[in-house]
Amino acid sequence: MRITEIFHSIQGESSYAGQPCVFIRLTGCPLRCTWCDTDYAFHGGQDGSIDDALAKVHRYRCRLVEVTGGEPLAQPESLPLMARLCDAGYTVLLETSGAFDIAPVDPRVHVILDVKCPGSDMTDRMHWPNLSRLAAKDEAKFVLADRADYDWASETLARYDLANRCTVLFSPVFGSLDIRELAEWILADRLPVRFQLQMHKYIWAPDMRGV
Ligand code: SF4
Repeated sequence: MRITEIFHSIQGESSYAGQPCVFIRLTGCPLRCTWCDTDYAFHGGQDGSIDDALAKVHRYRCRLVEVTGGEPLAQPESLPLMARLCDAGYTVLLETSGAFDIAPVDPRVHVILDVKCPGSDMTDRMHWPNLSRLAAKDEAKFVLADRADYDWASETLARYDLANRCTVLFSPVFGSLDIRELAEWILADRLPVRFQLQMHKYIWAPDMRGV
């Protein structure tokens, strides 16, 4: 398994935002979102075993763990890694691009599934059956670059009845979409979504790694 970093921070996104969390960032991603903020995880990293990763996580004494990337599901070992974390009693989050089938993911894992809007330039990489697999414990995340993304996300939300099946997150591309405008669009349209900011980018420098 190729690992970019394992670190302890404040969870900046999702309905777990604000909670201390250990992050396991796996190396590599076959996508290239226009606004990607983790391109340093595309290459490099170090080989590590699942046992080593579990030992590192254990040392942080924190019960919330997120497996992220890059795209974690691009590495088959991410599946037994998440299962082992669940077996050990951790609450496990998976941050995934939406391009890989989530069917093999341990059902105890809380999937945070990116739904790639047109502004990412990666909409055609979506594995659309994933949207039908999301359950109440899971979250669908739309990262929005502009009003066109917002309109597209609103239509997709309705088409898949997402708000009645899981938590839905609307998140602006950092520094691109005015956050107040997005908040006002959501209120005007009475959208049943959770507005979110990437909290860690306000606590630390936006481009800081390992937080
Ligand atoms: S899927 Fe995630 S890691 Fe991959 S390019 Fe897009 S934002 Fe970056």
